[in-house]
Amino acid sequence: MKKFVFGALLFSLILFLAACGEDSSAGGSDDAATEDALIGVAMPTKSSQRWVDDGNNMVEQLEALGFETDLQYAEDDVDKQVEQIENMIVKGADALVIASIDGTALTNVLEEAASQDIPVIAYDRLIMESEHVTYYATFDNFEVGVLQATYLEEALDLANEDGPFNIEIFGGSPDDNNAYFFWDGAMSVLQPYIDEGKLIVQSGQTDFEQAATMRWDGNTAKSRMENILSSSYSGEEKVDAVLSPYDGISRGVIQALKGVGYGSGDLPLPVISGQDAELASIKSIIAEEQTQTVFKDTRDLAASAVSMTEAILNDEEAEVNDTETYDNGVKVVPTFLVEPVSVDIDNYQEVVIDSGYYSEDEL
Ligand code: BGC
Repeated sequence: MKKFVFGALLFSLILFLAACGEDSSAGGSDDAATEDALIGVAMPTKSSQRWVDDGNNMVEQLEALGFETDLQYAEDDVDKQVEQIENMIVKGADALVIASIDGTALTNVLEEAASQDIPVIAYDRLIMESEHVTYYATFDNFEVGVLQATYLEEALDLANEDGPFNIEIFGGSPDDNNAYFFWDGAMSVLQPYIDEGKLIVQSGQTDFEQAATMRWDGNTAKSRMENILSSSYSGEEKVDAVLSPYDGISRGVIQALKGVGYGSGDLPLPVISGQDAELASIKSIIAEEQTQTVFKDTRDLAASAVSMTEAILNDEEAEVNDTETYDNGVKVVPTFLVEPVSVDIDNYQEVVIDSGYYSEDEL
């Protein structure tokens, strides 16, 4: 009898302890898989402010959850980025979040990561030609292009005006998959007007390959614009609009235009788009030089990438809202798309200041 009572007590104790164990893991905040896990965050360059914001947001949000972080910038040097990722693997990273420089250059290093079971999240830019990309967190990249081109369309009132208007078109970096999405989104709006003759590209450079800007470099764009101005606008023609996919490119193009007298006397600067709402470009918009930009809230992007990281390390499914669009050549990568927002002089206050992204002082 005594034996039976003791056995029953022991059994109850085991059940009680098991229940306690379940309780503490269901609490979630101190999941064994995420506690002290090391997350490698590889960013492309500090030369563009958005990536500095991205890196800071990622570290802040990961550390708030108890993760350790290793944040690295590669200054647009592809080999350096590969080396940084290799080092993260050697240091024992538990997951990698990568905003690639050249999306096609990471196949081998991702093989190495996979051989050690380290999951990889593509951040903002899709990593191409690799099956080892678990998730992709980005903005709606096609929509970014649509927002830029729609702004130009409305500024020139193409629906009602006969024109013709002169436009020059800039593309992003050919090694960045996003550049093609921005281009396609913008061209979905502009191409019909070009075909109709309402928009004229005096340089004749209407293919992505002709318009692309390697590594999104502002000086490269400035030189291209200078060449276009001297070869195609030496007479009476003037530039009415410029499609620019990124703020750094917009500012380079504006310098070239100002160099030949735009923005003074009776030669106004053309309407010019941009992307990233960089501080320098918001200032330029306030000064009525650049006309528009696209704000991408890097706080929201980081939140998405962080929750993907957490989900993977806890063997859970991450939240995605697109499972069709982003094919990296090997697989369609499940993606979470954040919405971009068009910004100009009329709404910058509300979008980038009232939201707390920038302070009044910074401007
Ligand atoms: C990003 C853009 C950025 C560009 C240049 C792209 O991959 O999506 O936000 O303007 O890179 O850094």
